[in-house]
Amino acid sequence: DGKYLDDGDQITIGKTVFKFISSSNIEAAYHEHVWSLTHHDGLTGIHNRPSFDAAIAEAVGRATRQQTPLALLLFDIDHFKLCNDTFGHRAGDHVLRMVASVAAQHTRKGDMLARYGGEEFALILNDLAWPGPARFADHLRGLIQAAPIEFEGNATPVTVSVGVAMWEPALRSVAQLIELADQRLYRAKHAGRNQVIAT
Ligand code: GH3
Ligand code: MG
Ligand code: MG
Repeated sequence: DGKYLDDGDQITIGKTVFKFISSSNIEAAYHEHVWSLTHHDGLTGIHNRPSFDAAIAEAVGRATRQQTPLALLLFDIDHFKLCNDTFGHRAGDHVLRMVASVAAQHTRKGDMLARYGGEEFALILNDLAWPGPARFADHLRGLIQAAPIEFEGNATPVTVSVGVAMWEPALRSVAQLIELADQRLYRAKHAGRNQVIAT
């Protein structure tokens, strides 16, 4: 009847046609799968760059309104090109998945881990006051260094360099927050890698 929606019903609002798909329809699972594909990185399964961009903007808005702590960690695998050159691209892919997996296991619900670029990751930490994010970053750095990562019998020690930045309204934009974390990551690289710079 006219009161309830049936599976497959279409509703037109302006120029947009909505299709109602009941959760019992197998098409619902398909749509959820496609939704998930557009928000996650195909290699590592963690969030992709567009997801991160949306999440960091939202997190900055919330932290500003509610005056709660917000930290951004950017970390990048050290000498990753050497790993690819020595063991091959497939070994490199395996290392990327392992690093993502270690970080994902230590990402709390409500925070977000994303693949920011090729071998660079971003972690949004909500509601963790200074110096929590700096301590967490160093803990994660240690976990990745200690993780047993091997490929076809070859043990590959993997380390990351990390830049940490706390949001403060004086930074004025999301871009400035990312820029600050990136500058610190760069300093961590130049200071010898396998370390965290958070100030
Ligand atoms: P640094 O310590 O300064 O970060 O040195 P690096 O060698 O890690 O940095 P560089 O930017 O020179 O090299 C990054 C390499 O990451 C080059 C690129 O081929 C590789 N890479 C990026 N994405 C992927 C990927 O999806 N799979 C694999 N196997 N390699 C990738
Ligand atoms: Mg690198
Ligand atoms: Mg890089």
